[in-house]
Amino acid sequence: MERVRDVSELPKAHLHLHFTGSMRPATLLELADKYGVRLPEALTDALTSGESPKLRATDERGWFRFQRLYDSARSCLRQPEDIQRLVREAAEEDLKDGSGWLEIQVDPTSYAPRLGGLIPTLEIILDAVETASRDTGVGMRVLVAANRMKHPLDARTLARLAVRYADQGVVGFGLSNDERRGMARDFDRAFHIAREGGLLSAPHGGELTGPSSVRDCLDDLDANRIGHGVRAAEDPRLLKRLADRGVTCEVCPASNVALGVYEKPEDVPLRTLYEAGVPMALGADDPLLFGSRLAAQYEIARQHHAFTDEELAELARQSVRASAAPEEVKGKLLAGVDDWLAQPAS
Ligand SMILES: [Zn+2]
Repeated sequence: MERVRDVSELPKAHLHLHFTGSMRPATLLELADKYGVRLPEALTDALTSGESPKLRATDERGWFRFQRLYDSARSCLRQPEDIQRLVREAAEEDLKDGSGWLEIQVDPTSYAPRLGGLIPTLEIILDAVETASRDTGVGMRVLVAANRMKHPLDARTLARLAVRYADQGVVGFGLSNDERRGMARDFDRAFHIAREGGLLSAPHGGELTGPSSVRDCLDDLDANRIGHGVRAAEDPRLLKRLADRGVTCEVCPASNVALGVYEKPEDVPLRTLYEAGVPMALGADDPLLFGSRLAAQYEIARQHHAFTDEELAELARQSVRASAAPEEVKGKLLAGVDDWLAQPAS
């Protein structure tokens, strides 16, 4: 009989979590009430039932619907205290799930009009991150993410901003939204600025579109990590390239199923990536909308892909190694992983 340990006690790093998407459902309902925002029914249904709304983001209309839900949630974050609360609660949730290091991803543009501009917004976020990290003990940093639906010049502005705060909590630069729009190469200058400034390159790719979008992230954006990247599983040569280069895929199984990238949890190619030696960091993406947080992703690996405790521990190590955590934090988390395995299972 395989020994089974509590995955929420397995030390790990969380590298794929979006800002608004990290919100607790109850918090969103409270903020909507506070500001008199009428949330779409699909969203309130999901929040009260705990089940993710049915979204088929594999077509553009489905993705658009998903973005609309996301926008309505985002519109409830209006004051610095809302930002502080969101960040603190994200850290608390991660702590419960065994995360010792959290990199939260944000495009400050969306919040800037209400918070006094891009710079004040990023400063409010970084300040909240520092406080939450101190209070919870979860190490926390920020990835600034550009939106590929916007102009590449906007991405460059964000990259310069991100670099300016590289020693104050920003560790990476991302690119999100619909992979079917624009080319990765349109954003190469922004990523060049970010890389030159010492930031990790962590664009989304290989979620809504196939292996070619992952190749573009490698070739054009010099990616250190890929947001999702799961569709690389369709191309063995690409898998080998990711494995050889040690590029980590931030795989979010519950999100993939909620957005219709895969039909069922067992269809997410966790085994394929793992066996090919592609490092992974499991992530929750947008728990607000998808109904499950970090530890639940490891539970999916265990229940639907028969990962043993030794293999789950290896996944946790991969997440830690791919993080921007200082070596000393990494060492502590990796030792914690060994301790977890050394414990007798209950
Ligand atoms: Zn994402």
